[in-house]
Amino acid sequence: MTVATETSFALKLTERINRIETSATMAVVAEADKLRSQGIDVVDFGAGEPHFTTPQHIKDAAIAAIQANFTKYTVVGGTAELRDAIVHRHSVDFDSDYRREEAIASVGGKHVLFNAIQVLVDHGDEVILPVPYWVSFKDIIRYAGGVPVLVETDESKDFRVTAEMVERTITPRTKVIILNSPSNPAGAVMSPEDMKAVVRLAAQRGIWVISDECYVYLNYSGKRFSVGSMRECRDRMLVVGSLSKTYAMTGWRLGYALGPAPVVSAMQKLQGQSTSNPTSIVQKAAVAALRGPQECIEEMRKEYIRLRDYVVKGLRAIPGVTCTLPQGAFYAYPNVASFFGRGEVKSAADVAGKLLREAHLATVPGEGFGTRQHIRVSYATSTAELDRGLERMGKLFASL
Ligand code: GLU
Repeated sequence: MTVATETSFALKLTERINRIETSATMAVVAEADKLRSQGIDVVDFGAGEPHFTTPQHIKDAAIAAIQANFTKYTVVGGTAELRDAIVHRHSVDFDSDYRREEAIASVGGKHVLFNAIQVLVDHGDEVILPVPYWVSFKDIIRYAGGVPVLVETDESKDFRVTAEMVERTITPRTKVIILNSPSNPAGAVMSPEDMKAVVRLAAQRGIWVISDECYVYLNYSGKRFSVGSMRECRDRMLVVGSLSKTYAMTGWRLGYALGPAPVVSAMQKLQGQSTSNPTSIVQKAAVAALRGPQECIEEMRKEYIRLRDYVVKGLRAIPGVTCTLPQGAFYAYPNVASFFGRGEVKSAADVAGKLLREAHLATVPGEGFGTRQHIRVSYATSTAELDRGLERMGKLFASL
């Protein structure tokens, strides 16, 4: 009889779970948390979430929902009231014309993307993914059995993705093209013309576009744009959004998709076998967010622009660091390659590791986003925190 060893138990995990890695952003959250629990004062430029608090009227709606005992199951894809609110907000802000059956609410933007990719990507399907990409895309695609096909971008052109770059990457096996503008981690913004060209091209060739528009309201480069406004191409695209960044609601977990009813219904089927509905109370809060006053969005956007300028100036002032000017979202993506080869530092992971362990500054290493020379800095914090973090970074880099 063979005695079971730790290794043989590990081998009993599925092949598909071994295909993916731990989320780089979530790993930083865990590490920073561990240091904090030891009483260490960590400056957090790690996981990206607004430092603003959720607006009061949204919190009030959640409290009212609890008091009214709105605490039971709802329809899996969200109440009719919520799906109507999602459709309404998008039509007002982006001139789309979706119907209730074309909307689904899930437990955060990541959950929506997970559902969408499981529903659209089969074994061996290619998924076009521009680099740098948000950490979870690659792994969600792999979990579905798909093959991420990377589109390299140029740092000297602010990591901008063009339709031509995407077109060059299409093969007969391409099933989905992922767009994410403004992007996490580089804050790269595609021009509306390029986005339109990709969507039209995809529609002609029968390829799906999943447009991750979680940062659509945090565009600093001009007018915000959603591919959802392209009514004539809606058969082949899915617009994904989230309340997390727009209304400072990361912990509430509410994301949504707008797309063809059969796809939305398949996503609902999958969701019905996993999480079921997003939290009932959160759905009421989401309706208040989507239907209520919208001024908070512009106020936060203005503040992020101020913080972006502040942090980029601070980063560029550190000898050895270069940094593009992000055009959206709330991340800076400085290049730290000039420190490679100094002492034991060989990679962005080494730089981020040293920053965390020795300077107690949390950042996310670029490897998780598909580039090896960068670290991601979330600047959704106060200028006082930015000062503290930049000082720690400057000191550590000077010591290398
Ligand atoms: N916006 C967050 C970040 O990239 C999401 C964290 C995550 O779910 O990975 O930091």
